[in-house]
Amino acid sequence: MTFQFRRGILCVAAIVAFSLSGMVVAQTAPLKSITYRLSMSRPNSHLFEVAIEVELPDQLKDTPIQFQMAKWSPGRYAVFDFAKNVQEFHAAAGVCPPPGRCDQAMRPVTRVNDQTWSVAPLGSSALTIKYKVFANDLSGTFSQLDSRHGNYNGGTIFMYVVDHKPDPVKLVIHPPSGWKIVNGRTERSGQTEWQFPNWDVLIDTPTEIAPDWTQESFQVDGKKYHVVLHSFGAEGGKRNNLVRDIEKIVRAESAMWGPPEFDEYTFLIHFAADDRSGDGMEHLTSTQIIEPGALAEEGVYEETLGTVAHEFFHVWNVKRLRPLELGPWDFTRPANTRGLWVAEGFTNYYGHLMMRRAGIWNDTRFVARQAETIDRIENAPGSRLMSAEESSLSAPFLDDAPHSQLTNLANTSISYYPKGELIGMVLDLLVRGRTKGKASLDDIMRAMYEEFYRKSSNNSYYLRGRGYTTEDVQRVASQVAGFDLSDFFHRYVRNTEMLPYDEALSYVGLKLVKTKKAQPYNAGLTLDSDEEAGMRILNIRNNSPAEDAGLDVGDEILELAGRKVTRQTWFPTLARYRPGDSVPITVKRDRKTITTKIIMGQPDRFEYKIESKADATEDQKALRDAWLK
Ligand SMILES: [Zn+2]
Ligand SMILES: [Zn+2]
Repeated sequence: MTFQFRRGILCVAAIVAFSLSGMVVAQTAPLKSITYRLSMSRPNSHLFEVAIEVELPDQLKDTPIQFQMAKWSPGRYAVFDFAKNVQEFHAAAGVCPPPGRCDQAMRPVTRVNDQTWSVAPLGSSALTIKYKVFANDLSGTFSQLDSRHGNYNGGTIFMYVVDHKPDPVKLVIHPPSGWKIVNGRTERSGQTEWQFPNWDVLIDTPTEIAPDWTQESFQVDGKKYHVVLHSFGAEGGKRNNLVRDIEKIVRAESAMWGPPEFDEYTFLIHFAADDRSGDGMEHLTSTQIIEPGALAEEGVYEETLGTVAHEFFHVWNVKRLRPLELGPWDFTRPANTRGLWVAEGFTNYYGHLMMRRAGIWNDTRFVARQAETIDRIENAPGSRLMSAEESSLSAPFLDDAPHSQLTNLANTSISYYPKGELIGMVLDLLVRGRTKGKASLDDIMRAMYEEFYRKSSNNSYYLRGRGYTTEDVQRVASQVAGFDLSDFFHRYVRNTEMLPYDEALSYVGLKLVKTKKAQPYNAGLTLDSDEEAGMRILNIRNNSPAEDAGLDVGDEILELAGRKVTRQTWFPTLARYRPGDSVPITVKRDRKTITTKIIMGQPDRFEYKIESKADATEDQKALRDAWLK
């Protein structure tokens, strides 16, 4: 999720307005009411029509009111500047109750900066703001309106009233005829109006509006769960099984944490069938999941459950137990936290572990998945350059952030998802092993949930609890484990040492095996996998043979060792040479053909596997069972 700066403004009046509202409004009472009306009269245009009606207390009738579009939205840390899709912003005095048509006097609007519009009430006790938002992305962050449905994530379409995010808000949706509305706060069918305690909860409630979504329900621990599916491709008769397996995941995760605090929860799942749209996003009482395939297709079923296991774990880890900085937020700048390796990384770890505990995966599948993650992290050049904490702070650059400026992030960064996942697994196994099974990461997570969420007083209007710092995690983990973890945090969280996989895995009778790949060289370059047949270089490792040879990103490889080379022959050809050999290579760069030489280096492609130890003891096997079942 990315970030742009705020631009200064045009006229003195606007600057006065800006500072006035900043100083005065922050200390005044809530607005008398804030109502959002959402219409979609022309779905094909991809334009949501938003009206915001505000009733002003007497002391604000002559103060400019500012409306602001968020730069990003919670759960995705890159900045996208949602204001870029706003058009036709107008303001009028008074409120015209639908369906009546009133003659409302217009009120002057000043665009204050890239994300802010200011409206002068000029003595009116109420204002109606209208604007349209273009929305044509099906995702966990953006929104989409087309002939099939309206699916929105509120942060991309609803402006907040500056200094009034804590105020209660009402939402009224006017759907096209025959379209039904559903979200994680729907209490009855046919509902078109909602009351939210504040804007943050309004945008935490993604909503689906369409004629043909389906809904199945089940109960666990007295809580009601709804599985809403909107399929743009064949389901292959798999819907019922999918719902049953989702229930198994809910049971496994509730068993670890105890029953969640809500009464109802909704899985909003889209099968986009466009091979492009894929996402998952956590919310307080719902999740929005988008799969790029169709449910009937190979692999999509398991993919969906994997995303469900991850997103549902967020009910506890991130939506409630969360890093200190995560909520309420300043939507004029990216959120920075050191804790995403816990918030996202541990959730990744448990998402996979819960696939095992729910009985959807077996031990072999789970362990193989962990080995894949080790493979990914240990083969990444950024692993020895960027720590888990630094990765978390770099989230605005890493979390699906668009880059129009070329970067070296492929060589310098790691993702806090897989890195945090491995820290979680290793920490879990060290604690289980050293305490002989008396404590685990499950206990640490539950202790943190109690201390920083359940028993922590309200820190803000937004949510109970104050959230944690990395130091808090270290303290609670050490307390629960019964031994000091400061050295672990120093080496593996704040620095970039390789995790102690061997010690961790040995406690459960497993070991990590590192082998050279059958074709152990790649010369330090990565080919662009977006081009199926092409040989275009996507990335060059720093200090690699490819860099020494003068190769560059964007070069198209034509020949290796004097022969035309393809994706199929690239690795086998390289594998014929030994370290120190000089291999001619010809590339096309822009309009030139260039021939140079690669001096082969040491093997640089390795495979990591987790295997059972032949001499695993009964105690170790028992510890493994307690971990996985
Ligand atoms: Zn839909
Ligand atoms: Zn997540």
